Amino acid sequence: MRIANVSGRLALITADGTRAVDVERASDGRFAADPQAVYEHWDAFREWAAGAELPEGEPFDAADLGAPVPAARQIFAIGLNYRAHADESGFDAPEGLPPVFTKFATAITGPVTTLELPEGGHNDWEVELVAVIGKRAREVAEADGWDYVAGLTVGQDVSERIGQLAGPAPQFSLGKSHPGFAPTGPWVVTTDEFDNPDDLELRCTVNGEEMQKGRTRDLIVSVPALVARLSQVLPLLPGDIIFTGTPSGVGMGRKPQRWLADGDLLVSTIEGIGELRQTCRG
Ligand code: ZN
Repeated sequence: MRIANVSGRLALITADGTRAVDVERASDGRFAADPQAVYEHWDAFREWAAGAELPEGEPFDAADLGAPVPAARQIFAIGLNYRAHADESGFDAPEGLPPVFTKFATAITGPVTTLELPEGGHNDWEVELVAVIGKRAREVAEADGWDYVAGLTVGQDVSERIGQLAGPAPQFSLGKSHPGFAPTGPWVVTTDEFDNPDDLELRCTVNGEEMQKGRTRDLIVSVPALVARLSQVLPLLPGDIIFTGTPSGVGMGRKPQRWLADGDLLVSTIEGIGELRQTCRG
């Protein structure tokens, strides 16, 4: 099942990805049009969607897609969660929980956007698998971690490196929260759609040139382990999202370093989910 935000309304996307079924109308108002609200009623929604006679839906344009999870109460982001990326960043791979920060909510956008580059910044890309929480998680065991995940989507943890790395301590959250710095989408794919949700290929290109290519099996702390370890500290709430970390190949780690520039097209893709397209301006 693919859950999207089409022009601000919750929609189910057909298997071929071309049509959208409006959930509020198809459910006679049982489920609200607000794409964020569905995670409060996730089990009931899944049950309804599995059994309902759905209409064939309407065609939609990719430009009509908004962030599938537009107003998460908590946005977690994980740093240094792939060994090769920790290496290129000049850090030791973490022994315990990798650094956890937030991308502030105003950074969230949909999958197809114009990305305004902060002037004078070193603006960089980080393709990431994003996990969406489907029910409240508190002190969950790793073996049960996937049970708390509604689905997966693609995220870009766009990062302005000068601000991020200015001392005396890094400013991960602010450096990664400029407006538009958290594109997500194109939709949330439920975990049952994947042969193995722990091993998905993720990649990103700039102007068609491959910059990052990795697999989520190389996450140092996997999705269910993140649910377990974060939920030891605080509750994860329905509709929260977790940016799980990026593989190697970011601009900061290249020789010479490379940053996003006016006119660049950044495309971020995860196998079995879809892609994000950011056109850079600035
Ligand atoms: Zn990141």
